[in-house]
Amino acid sequence: MLKEGFKDVYQLDGGIISYGKNKKTLGKDFEGKCYVFDERISVEVNKVNPVVVGKCLHCQLPNERYVNCSNEKCHMHFILCEDCDEKYNGACSDDCKKVLQEAK
Ligand SMILES: [Zn+2]
Ligand SMILES: [Zn+2]
Repeated sequence: MLKEGFKDVYQLDGGIISYGKNKKTLGKDFEGKCYVFDERISVEVNKVNPVVVGKCLHCQLPNERYVNCSNEKCHMHFILCEDCDEKYNGACSDDCKKVLQEAK
């Protein structure tokens, strides 16, 4: 690995996660949450002044509670607040809610 190139290679490797962990920047230029494909779904990157950038799909209120649609055939990834989670049984739409009810 080239001496001069090492820093850049490392940054590419670690991506946005190590950017967020960098003590100097603390991810302050990064708004909202970083999307990662694991069970955490989203991780806090901005530790200085986190902002809620998401909106509930149903009621449009600011939220950042990421879920997958409970209809397995849909499985859309979207933001759902707890109230709407109850109302829609974790579904992204009326159609998906219907599918869930019929499956019961
Ligand atoms: Zn809602
Ligand atoms: Zn759905």
